[in-house]
Amino acid sequence: MAKLNNRGNLNSGHYSIKCLMKKLTKSEAENYIKEFFKTKRSQEEIKKIKRLTMHHNIKLGEYRKNFCKKCFSQFPKNALIRIKNKIKIIRCKNCGCVSRWKI
Ligand SMILES: [Zn+2]
Repeated sequence: MAKLNNRGNLNSGHYSIKCLMKKLTKSEAENYIKEFFKTKRSQEEIKKIKRLTMHHNIKLGEYRKNFCKKCFSQFPKNALIRIKNKIKIIRCKNCGCVSRWKI
């Protein structure tokens, strides 16, 4: 199994996203994504990881709720969340896009 010993940093030259797509198996990519969302990520990094998930046909599931679907900025921990009729509403501070999820 390929070891991701660089703490999953996509900015390092060693692991470009194209390289990751070829290198990782699906389950390795899933692990990588799990690690990826443990730390704060930039919009560019999230865009890249989305490409990785599409390449491997991985569903982001819960992780999808971590970032804005429009501008890919990660929601802060203290993001404004409202709950209305069993629907969770979160507004992106960056682009103003509103995301809704059933709970
Ligand atoms: Zn946004």
